[in-house]
Amino acid sequence: MSQFWSSIVNDLTPYVPGEQPKVDNLIKLNTNENPYPPSPKVLKILKESANNSLRLYPDPNADKLKQSLAKHYKIKSAQVFVGNGSDEVLAHTFVALLKQSKPILLPDISYSFYPVYCQLFVIDYRQIALDDKFQININDYFSKNGGIIFPNPNAPTGKLLALQQIELLLQNNTQSVVVIDEAYIDFGGESAVKLIDDYTNLLVIQTFSKSRSLAGLRVGFAMGNSNLIEALERVKNSFNSYPLDQFAINGAIAAIEDNDYFKQTTEKIVSSRNYLLKEMSSMGFKILPSSANFIFASHPDYDAEEVALFLRHQDIIVRHFKQLRIEQYLRITVGTQKECEALVKAFKIFLS
Ligand SMILES: *Cc1c(COP(=O)(O)O)cnc(C)c1O
Repeated sequence: MSQFWSSIVNDLTPYVPGEQPKVDNLIKLNTNENPYPPSPKVLKILKESANNSLRLYPDPNADKLKQSLAKHYKIKSAQVFVGNGSDEVLAHTFVALLKQSKPILLPDISYSFYPVYCQLFVIDYRQIALDDKFQININDYFSKNGGIIFPNPNAPTGKLLALQQIELLLQNNTQSVVVIDEAYIDFGGESAVKLIDDYTNLLVIQTFSKSRSLAGLRVGFAMGNSNLIEALERVKNSFNSYPLDQFAINGAIAAIEDNDYFKQTTEKIVSSRNYLLKEMSSMGFKILPSSANFIFASHPDYDAEEVALFLRHQDIIVRHFKQLRIEQYLRITVGTQKECEALVKAFKIFLS
């Protein structure tokens, strides 16, 4: 509290990101980063990008990146928006499209940044409870609203909503924008991007941070009707003309172009996810079906926080949320196969 702060700042409860430890001997399974390095082609272009052209401003519209994304997703450049991480794309989305007179709808258990943006931008919101299987029930979203937003697969549950369900939601919600945050879609879901030509109120948001191993580069993007994209551009150009630097633009293009590497690394993660599911289930853990690069697990006999603390002593960090309904769960990022084996070994020590 301070007399110099605005009332908004005095009332804020900022988002708390997962710990980024300053020591590097840890197995880091707490922030859903990709355990594999970026594509070698990305690293090569990043090195080459350290040149004299850095004295110039980057392209404010990042046109080449938009074209590259448009080609990859078989849409038009005018249907693509890019930003400094999908968190920034989300922030602009709240201001540009979700700040309405009616409250927006979002799940009670989902990405905890959404309510923070609502506070910051003074947006009224209503949280809708997931059902007792932690599933989003789209029938709960058919009431009048100022917009709808949720991740698919959902975070931190990892549960996927089928594309037909999203289409059903769009058919029943035509008067406000529906935002699908697809941060984890590449690990086992079907993107709603194929619906953007049919539903002008659909905005799909993705990121290079998870499936493309580039959390440190900060690149996110949105895909939707050009009219929605224009709204995002208006906010972006009223805030920061150059959200993506030359490294981010060049690195992201190289990442999109190296589809083989992307496929190999995502397949490895899916296979390690199956390994964890099998091994941990046999140790008595209850694990939600995951379509993401993390699993959401609880053990009927042990306190989740206690398990997390034990793992920390074994130099493994996972994420625990002190939040109603999910305080007995741990969100565990799928690491390399070796890291997953070390995790299973630590669990065996804990349970013996
Ligand atoms: C990781 C994550 C993001 C943020 O991604 P950045 O592009 O790194 O900002 C957005 N939404 C969800 C659901 C996430 O898990």
